[in-house]
Amino acid sequence: MPPDSDSPLMPHGGYENLRSYAVAEAVYDATVVFCDRFIDKTSRTHDQMVQAARSGVRNISEGSGAAATSKKMEMKLTNVARASLNDELAKDYKSFLMQQGLRVWPKNSKPCLAMRERLKHDIFPGLPPAPKGKIVLTGLAGLAEFVSKADPELAGNAMLCAVNQASYLLKRQVQSQSRDFQENGGFTERLHATRLQARAQQQGVPLCPVCGQPMRRRTAGKTSSQFWGCSAYPNCKGTRDIEP
Ligand SMILES: [Zn+2]
Repeated sequence: MPPDSDSPLMPHGGYENLRSYAVAEAVYDATVVFCDRFIDKTSRTHDQMVQAARSGVRNISEGSGAAATSKKMEMKLTNVARASLNDELAKDYKSFLMQQGLRVWPKNSKPCLAMRERLKHDIFPGLPPAPKGKIVLTGLAGLAEFVSKADPELAGNAMLCAVNQASYLLKRQVQSQSRDFQENGGFTERLHATRLQARAQQQGVPLCPVCGQPMRRRTAGKTSSQFWGCSAYPNCKGTRDIEP
């Protein structure tokens, strides 16, 4: 949805289009498969991992829904999603691998980078058919199926790569939300600005040519001549001549 500059409502609700959401959703589906295969169903770990994966998906969509009214809430929920995946789920996958005496692939190792490349696409383009009896990750859309067949070390590391990718995307998302908040403010701030502008127009006060806020009559120190100065001064230094 393109932002409407006249409305204080902010664009929102596009979570279905977010790559972070697609990755988190695939992580959730594959975590269910992984836990059913490798983790004792009656253990707390089983529950904990599925919950953390679910919390990732849910908080991304709720955060996106909150974006219309509160940028702060959007950031908070996106951060919760990231924490569930990065601080909880990734740790669970690591301890699974370590407890089984399996290798945890270093983040920038060859197999890890190759796995990440695959996961950037729903279906990795130009893949040759898998050799007989071999399991190949075909892309993000094939993650759950891969995890249902691969040996535990491969499956665990593939999950770790996918979880790290989702956390990375969420980290960037929070950063851009926070930039947007600093530049454009949240709903409440915008509503306030919209009201001030409406009142100013009624009273014949011009709006700042730089930032659009109402202006105030000011007097230049030296010449005592009058001019319009931005009400947001010193943050904004917009001025206008007073028309006679
Ligand atoms: Zn201004």
